[in-house]
Amino acid sequence: MKTGKEDPYFEYRRELVEQLIAEGVVKSERVKDAMLRVPRHEFVWPDQLDHAYDDIPLPLGDTGQTISAPHMVAIMNELLDVQTGDKILEVGTGGGYHAATLAILTCPTLNSPIPLVYTIEINHRLVEFARKNISRLGFQNVVTIIEGDGSRGYPEASPYDCIVVTAAAPRIPSPLIDQLKPNGKMAIPVQSRFFGQELMLVKKDEKGRIKTSNMGPVIFVPLRGEYGF
Ligand code: SAH
Repeated sequence: MKTGKEDPYFEYRRELVEQLIAEGVVKSERVKDAMLRVPRHEFVWPDQLDHAYDDIPLPLGDTGQTISAPHMVAIMNELLDVQTGDKILEVGTGGGYHAATLAILTCPTLNSPIPLVYTIEINHRLVEFARKNISRLGFQNVVTIIEGDGSRGYPEASPYDCIVVTAAAPRIPSPLIDQLKPNGKMAIPVQSRFFGQELMLVKKDEKGRIKTSNMGPVIFVPLRGEYGF
């Protein structure tokens, strides 16, 4: 993976991360490191290259889906407080950008003998796009991409320390709660009862009790599938 001087986009990325720190979005060294190391320009659709380091979501071709804005990836990663070695499920791979940041958080050396980030995507073209990106950039030992309906989670590799859902759900899918470990955390955008969507942080304690907190309004594409819209 190219970082530092040999990456022509490094300065743009550094400026973006400085901006996110100034805004109070990036708080920890670990999230800062992940945002600096993942080359977002390698995950955008080729026609969006000039905007790769703008802090906005960008269209993924004509799929109707988007790559998340960097601030949203950073906010969710700060909330999850990923520890080295954590097993993570992401629902909604898109181009694989968020999954790459999670890979660095759980395995900074990227040479894990077993996958630690499971990410599930329902759109076949995006599965192919993300697989290419993840392997080309050297994240493939940590990140496994599954094609399927992630609204049901991915019980095969459960339970997870962290779950992140990158599409908005009508309500929190019960299989995702079931697949969380005791002391596990989930960040998920949920359709509000009143208007728009809200980012929810779901915590399961050691006895399996659930506590949810509303982290404020957000905008995501809708979650599809059995527990989606
Ligand atoms: N995590 C991505 C953001 C992708 S946008 C990033 O790093 O930028 C949300 C994605 O969720 C879309 O690609 C969409 O196809 C996918 N999606 C929607 N419903 C889904 C479902 N039920 N299972 C898996 N993926 C789903």
